Amino acid sequence: MSAHAILSPSSAKRWINCPPSARINAEAPQKDTVYTREGTLAHAICELKARKHFLTGVGPKRFQAAMDKFRADELWQDEMEGHTDTYLEALKDIAAQYSEAPHVALEVKVDFSEYVPEGFGTADCLMIGPVEGVKGDVLHVIDFKYGKGVEVEAEDNPQMMLYALGALMDYSPIYDIDEVRMTIVQPRIKREPESWSLKALSLVNWANCVVEPAAKLAIHGGGEFQEGEWCRFCAIRGSCRARAEANLRAAELDFRLPPELSDVEVGEALTLGQRLKQWLSDLEEYALNACLDGREIDGWKAVAGRSVRAWTDPDAAFAAARAAGIPEEMLYERKPVTLAGLEKVMGKKPFAEALSGFVTAPPGKPTLVKSSDRRAAITNQPTAGEDFGGNDD
Ligand code: SF4
Repeated sequence: MSAHAILSPSSAKRWINCPPSARINAEAPQKDTVYTREGTLAHAICELKARKHFLTGVGPKRFQAAMDKFRADELWQDEMEGHTDTYLEALKDIAAQYSEAPHVALEVKVDFSEYVPEGFGTADCLMIGPVEGVKGDVLHVIDFKYGKGVEVEAEDNPQMMLYALGALMDYSPIYDIDEVRMTIVQPRIKREPESWSLKALSLVNWANCVVEPAAKLAIHGGGEFQEGEWCRFCAIRGSCRARAEANLRAAELDFRLPPELSDVEVGEALTLGQRLKQWLSDLEEYALNACLDGREIDGWKAVAGRSVRAWTDPDAAFAAARAAGIPEEMLYERKPVTLAGLEKVMGKKPFAEALSGFVTAPPGKPTLVKSSDRRAAITNQPTAGEDFGGNDD
């Protein structure tokens, strides 16, 4: 088994926090889903657009021919056009932060094997050069995420940090890198790219103190099982004993008197509830697959869910409806496309240029989120200004 398959950057959060999970996952079959293939196609389009803009070798003809090929792919979606434009716009904005044209590398292999056995990965885009106000050069790592299921944060993101570490190792002999910036472009979830930065020295400290010791354990299947948010992508998330024990232990909430929970305890219960909800959903997925595989899960079985009726042949059905005297206008609905739908089709920038004057964004319905969420907290309480003299009556 190759070490690369075990300690990949994309699973780094898991194997750093739960080293024995590395070998378990490496032995599990890898699934190539329609979503991963869509992501691969969207990445290829991103690369083409970035290559045409920043590098040489992709002229208008070659670009057009490649785009025609992408559009003919069975996985092509019209919204890919807009989302990959958003990626290119983000790259242009980042390049503009440099005080002179940065060095740009695309789909670049980075090597961090000094810290992780056979550790390497492929970064979507790297930029390096001087930035006003920074002593040395700035290395910027940019990653495109096409998924829309799970929001990926730039801050403290081990995958991005390993890419940056590899790039730092590779480029340090040529550049005097002082600061490392990382940006995630995830246009199907977040309207704006998200960035985070740290000093090059801090990145190396993290590699020495966190990555290297964890990698040494993980490569040999050693270390302690440790449950956490990283379990979500683990192959044994539904059947893991360490996770079950940790969740069952946590579920024994040690509430204190008086009879009503304090606000602190409500917060604790909500956090725990989310964790248990995710675990329950993974258990259900595991048990359903086991039942479908013909195994016995005590007290449970798989059944066919509710069936949703569908036309076998919509054209023939509508012809029959017309023949039965249903007027044409009763058969079709004409609806305006949604704002988000039109923005996807047009692309973010052309949409803003043509239509931003027609867009308003009223405050959304109050929603409960974790305090780590980046959005500002809201309240119904009057502000100090409203309390003192906001009303002359
Ligand atoms: S489910 Fe969580 S605790 Fe169990 S092996 Fe996977 S990552 Fe570790």
